[in-house]
Amino acid sequence: MNSVLDNDIQFLPSVGPKRAELLRAELDIYTIRDLLNFFPFRYINRSEFYAIKDLHVSTAQVQAKGVITKVMIEGVGAKQRVKAYLTDGTGVLELVWFKQIKWVSEYLKPNIEYVVFGRLSEYRSSITMSHPEIEELSKFQERSQHGLFGVYPSTEKVKKANIHGKIFRVMIEKAFEKLGNEPIPETLPASILQELALPNLRETYKTLHLPEKLSSVARAQFRVKFEELFWVQLALVYRKQIHERFVKGFTFFRENDNILSTFYSKYLPFPLTGAQIRVMSEIRADVEQGKHMNRLVQGDVGSGKTLIAIFSMLMAIDNGYQACLMVPTEVLAQQHFTSISKMLANVPVNIALLTGSTKTAERKKIHEGLQNATINIIIGTHALLEDVVQFDNLGLCVIDEQHRFGVAQRAKLWKKNSQTPHILVMTATPIPRTLAMTLYGDLDVSVIDEMPPGRKPIKTALLFDSQRGKMHKLLHDQIKKGHQIYIVYPLISESESLDYKDLEDGYAGITQVFPHPKYTTVVVHGKMKPAEKEAAMQLFVSKQAQILVATTVIEVGVDVPNATVMVIESAERFGLSQLHQLRGRVGRGASESFCVLMAGYKLSEDGKTRLHTMVQTNDGFELAEVDLKLRGPGDIEGTQQSGLPITFKLANLAKDGKIIQLARQKAFEVIKKDPDLQSSEYVMLREGLKKRQVQKISWRDIS
Ligand code: ADP
Ligand code: MG
Repeated sequence: MNSVLDNDIQFLPSVGPKRAELLRAELDIYTIRDLLNFFPFRYINRSEFYAIKDLHVSTAQVQAKGVITKVMIEGVGAKQRVKAYLTDGTGVLELVWFKQIKWVSEYLKPNIEYVVFGRLSEYRSSITMSHPEIEELSKFQERSQHGLFGVYPSTEKVKKANIHGKIFRVMIEKAFEKLGNEPIPETLPASILQELALPNLRETYKTLHLPEKLSSVARAQFRVKFEELFWVQLALVYRKQIHERFVKGFTFFRENDNILSTFYSKYLPFPLTGAQIRVMSEIRADVEQGKHMNRLVQGDVGSGKTLIAIFSMLMAIDNGYQACLMVPTEVLAQQHFTSISKMLANVPVNIALLTGSTKTAERKKIHEGLQNATINIIIGTHALLEDVVQFDNLGLCVIDEQHRFGVAQRAKLWKKNSQTPHILVMTATPIPRTLAMTLYGDLDVSVIDEMPPGRKPIKTALLFDSQRGKMHKLLHDQIKKGHQIYIVYPLISESESLDYKDLEDGYAGITQVFPHPKYTTVVVHGKMKPAEKEAAMQLFVSKQAQILVATTVIEVGVDVPNATVMVIESAERFGLSQLHQLRGRVGRGASESFCVLMAGYKLSEDGKTRLHTMVQTNDGFELAEVDLKLRGPGDIEGTQQSGLPITFKLANLAKDGKIIQLARQKAFEVIKKDPDLQSSEYVMLREGLKKRQVQKISWRDIS
């Protein structure tokens, strides 16, 4: 049976082949169904008026009313224009026309009230409305149709072709005429519509396109947003449930705890934080029951994620398995190897390091050790992914800073055992809860929301170039106290020589202020050979160098508790999460620590917000929320790789947190009731998932 909904848009009265072509090419509107699903993103209320004093320049069209106080013609020839001033007692609005000069100047009469409607622009600091729609107030009031009008998304070409709100309104009216009484098939189960008191589809379309009052518009928008988010959540929750039912995991028995309990009771230099204990028990609950663990641990920089990794790896070893820890950079791998080896020095665990710069002979030995199980823990970079790296029995993969690995890379690791090892991914990039629900919606998420005790909040200051002396003074003071300093330069692309020039100039400048041999300054950047980098880092770690000048290579994981100052040069060029990561490099010891943001004078609005937010808060999650609002979900680290829909027609991951939560809850309820979506009520959901193809994204891909 052919539904009117599937009819080609071209045959709708008022459309025709030319418009249809444009609608298809520019707005993806092919059928009547597409048209109905093309929603206004905003509404203008033509029954309401702005006070002129409240007007400000934005992209929105606004409506005001008032009397004309003055009309004049300015300029000559092509530059001729009519100017008029409209006042409503609260302020004066300038109106301008560049065309129809004669007609306008004669039409406008002083001391009569007019209604104007249009876009505002700013010219020489006064607000102007050019070519407004204008009508005498009395005439405006005689007309019956005021109220709400939808504003539709558009493109340059569509605007040029004059397809605007009014045309859409006509097309929609025609569509409804064609549709007549033909039912519009529902896309949500009746029970959900009922429970949430959502309008049905026909009503939703009517309200959104031909609105009568804002409260019903809000309800209809809610339905659309809910539905958009519900499908994503349903796909994720369905996936998760399938994974839980059908993917088996190795069981790590608590009674086998041997090395772990020795380490815990004898050698752990400090008690675990409450958050670490909680996260460990969440991990335990996964691995104790033959469930396959697929868990993300989120914790701010310095919250103690490494220890979680160590505990989990010991659990694997106690149960006869090997464990691996993969990190994105060589420096970080080296650091982890050193600190973990030190931590586990007194327990019988064999740890090895495998990176791109591991020598061939050593590499061979490691490959053997992994195959004959003499190596228990392997720490490394991408080098772990190579096919030659084979394990005897890999039971757990830990990935640090997981967002830096591509989908395929990570999946390679899971396949290093015939039965998928447990997976623990760790990230210090705080992701707002609601976004995490979507990005990591089919993973279990643990959050370390507590810092180890004794940390003093880092003092952050924003300084401009002219205040460089202040920064130098702070460095002097801190070095005098025996502390160390990081100075970081932005590096947008490894090949940009300009960035290196900044770094080199900075290095030259700082060694003038802090000359050798009294002070030692080292440089680390991405163009150096691993051995050089390593040597420089070593000088800093061993406290022989007081100052480390670096590009963002130090961004992840470096742990030098004696460093108390992080200077970030051209701080406006960094994103919020990166700034926060960098700041997290200090404040690791007991001493008071500082972060100095050096900024240029020409700051964008967003740049200002970023830097001021950094000064105001140390809370990674708070920063993440701001970041999400500034950049939108598409730009948050990790979202691109997710392959999930992150932009919607109406829903907004940054703003609709409550709806995401509700959608997720409903998805869980549905799956709990009917895990295979087989009941007559839910079979539509199964079909819908297939059609939408969201379900094709595999849990392996986004974990
Ligand atoms: P991150 O979460 O950034 O990976 P780390 O695991 O590197 O953090 O831990 C940061 C520092 O805090 C390390 O020096 C670590 O030894 C220390 N640490 C971790 N857990 C605790 C704890 N429970 N009590 C005190 N110090 C801790
Ligand atoms: Mg870490």
